[in-house]
Amino acid sequence: MNTLVLNASYEPLAVVSVRRAVILILTEKAVVEHADAGKLIRSATRELPTPLVVRLLRFVRVPYRRKVPWSRSGVLERDGRRCAYCAGRANSIDHIVPTSRGGAARSWRNTVAACVACNQDKADRTPAEAGMRLLIEPFEPKAHRALVLALGVTAAEGLPDWLLAATA
Ligand SMILES: [Zn+2]
Repeated sequence: MNTLVLNASYEPLAVVSVRRAVILILTEKAVVEHADAGKLIRSATRELPTPLVVRLLRFVRVPYRRKVPWSRSGVLERDGRRCAYCAGRANSIDHIVPTSRGGAARSWRNTVAACVACNQDKADRTPAEAGMRLLIEPFEPKAHRALVLALGVTAAEGLPDWLLAATA
């Protein structure tokens, strides 16, 4: 079961677990806007109606345009650990335009997850030269650092590693 979190300005921000929403309420970071009085949630010290919508007391500026630092693990995570050329299990990073040919080394758009076999096949060539086709379009992930910090969301709640790495 999940709870919608609103910014102090009433704009929807995120969906979190009810447990996380209760923590936000008990730590006085959020107030309940809408609750299901028919279902009580028990905390160590009290019982409260299941929060369906909570609102943060402090306004959170969400930096949608903030850049996420590039990392190998971030690329693997972004691509779901699947090879961008054959969709097999990936455990290496391929530079689409090889760095030896002037390709950017630490660029989200010039790197994809790749299996070792495809990486070795492609070697020092561009995909076109190697006759290999990209199955995905590499993109730059967006960070939600302020949001993650404000909500205290953890990996257990399904956030990808690259997002956690960006907010560490
Ligand atoms: Zn492959």
